[in-house]
Amino acid sequence: MTHSLPQSPLSLWLAEYGPYEPSPPLQGDATVDVAIVGGGFTGIATAHTLLKEDPALRVAVLEHEYVGYGASGRNGSFSMTVVGLGIGPTAMLKGKPFVRAAHAYMERAVDGLESLIRDNQLQCDYIRPGFLRMATTPGYVKRIRHDIDLVNELGIPGIEWLDRDAARAKVDSELYLGAWWEPRLGLVNPAKLLREERRLAIARGAQVYEHTPVLEIQRGAKFSLRTPGGTVAAEKMVLATNAYSHLLPELKNRQAPAWTYMIATEPLSDRHFAQIRWQEGNGVEDARNLIHYYRITPDNRLVMGGGPVGLSSGANMDVDSSEPIWRHLEEHTRLLFPALKDVKITHRWGGPFSVTLDLTPAVGYLGDRRAAYSLGCIGHGVSTTHQNAITLTDLLMERQTENTACPFVNRRVIPWPPEPLRSVAAHAIRAYLRIEDWAYERKMAKFPAA
Ligand SMILES: Cc1cc2nc3c(=O)[nH]c(=O)nc-3n(C[C@H](O)[C@H](O)[C@H](O)COP(=O)(O)OP(=O)(O)OC[C@H]3O[C@@H](n4cnc5c(N)ncnc54)[C@H](O)[C@@H]3O)c2cc1C
Repeated sequence: MTHSLPQSPLSLWLAEYGPYEPSPPLQGDATVDVAIVGGGFTGIATAHTLLKEDPALRVAVLEHEYVGYGASGRNGSFSMTVVGLGIGPTAMLKGKPFVRAAHAYMERAVDGLESLIRDNQLQCDYIRPGFLRMATTPGYVKRIRHDIDLVNELGIPGIEWLDRDAARAKVDSELYLGAWWEPRLGLVNPAKLLREERRLAIARGAQVYEHTPVLEIQRGAKFSLRTPGGTVAAEKMVLATNAYSHLLPELKNRQAPAWTYMIATEPLSDRHFAQIRWQEGNGVEDARNLIHYYRITPDNRLVMGGGPVGLSSGANMDVDSSEPIWRHLEEHTRLLFPALKDVKITHRWGGPFSVTLDLTPAVGYLGDRRAAYSLGCIGHGVSTTHQNAITLTDLLMERQTENTACPFVNRRVIPWPPEPLRSVAAHAIRAYLRIEDWAYERKMAKFPAA
């Protein structure tokens, strides 16, 4: 594999991070117990989790670019319980027992990430302001209320319906008709979180090699991972390559990448907050399939992402920029909050997320019990990847735990078809999701096309 990855517009989090000194690339050969491919949340969290369990292990993380290059350094920063397209669609696709088990996993994911941050004093601007899924049309009111009935039926506590006034008392837009309210949501600065975790992993003894693409993997008595500067021999291996996984022959058809885009405004003023409220800094999404997600940062910027998603074909990963989608996000911001009409946009970026054909995550062994992988969190990987890191550790240590019993784990993954059918299927799924959103919104003439 010799794919080069694009150098794309930096996320707000990476652009504002300040100086960063990446670890040197691998030079020469190395022998380790566990080699981890990919330096995002999954790879780095697996490294420090493994070493917490067994400090004697020799663990190396091999990252193609730099730690935070992938979705982990670019995301919307929501640590949340959502799986796939949310509880309703997941119940339809996978059944209610799956949803109950998946939600329990995700509750552990959000709470576990919070404990990781607190216990290790990771400096990442973490807050837990709670989650609002705002209904912006009567159809979405019905959809959200249906999902709340479902969580009640499944005995999932802590989620409630807020009527229009209660929702607008939190964040105020004329479009809001009510909301799903769930206190279990954390917000982070993802670049700071990931690099604090890198520090933790290194402090526990991990070797992190940046600018070290894995070009080829051979499976023998040991794994042999070839990079430009040398080869790593490893007893065990984790593939933590997420939306880039189809570029590895080992994971070729298990996922396909799709792209989501974000913008950030300049810091808002007190005058703006007098109109839009948002005093508790809640994380907000809408109830569409192709969701919009947005939050306020500690320095009072509004960060908005989502809406239309980008697709690519084959090995092309150069889709991190989209002028039309950034424009859509600006229009959507103004539509929701007319008071922000003159606010400047200071950052625009995008990144790939990993999609399995049944829109749910997959974690498991690969070939035999010496190798494991994790992918397919769709746009909801901040918390999930951290729980998956614990699961990957359980798998590599060959333990059966409540994590390995989760239905994401060692499940059959429906393969994406080869190109050109993969592109046809991806476009068809996106078109279906768009049409359904249009049906929910068609009476709202004000909604810009997404
Ligand atoms: C714009 C955006 C917004 C999002 N918003 C949210 C959100 O608000 N909440 C949420 O929960 N989730 C969100 N997500 C999803 C979430 O960010 C991801 O699910 C999560 O970060 C995935 O982490 P990861 O470590 O598995 O993958 P990544 O962070 O993508 O890391 C994979 C790494 O593997 C490396 N790699 C690939 N191939 C090789 C190779 N051959 N050799 C070595 N290294 C390799 C890549 O360079 C990359 O750094 C968002 C995603 C995007 C793109």
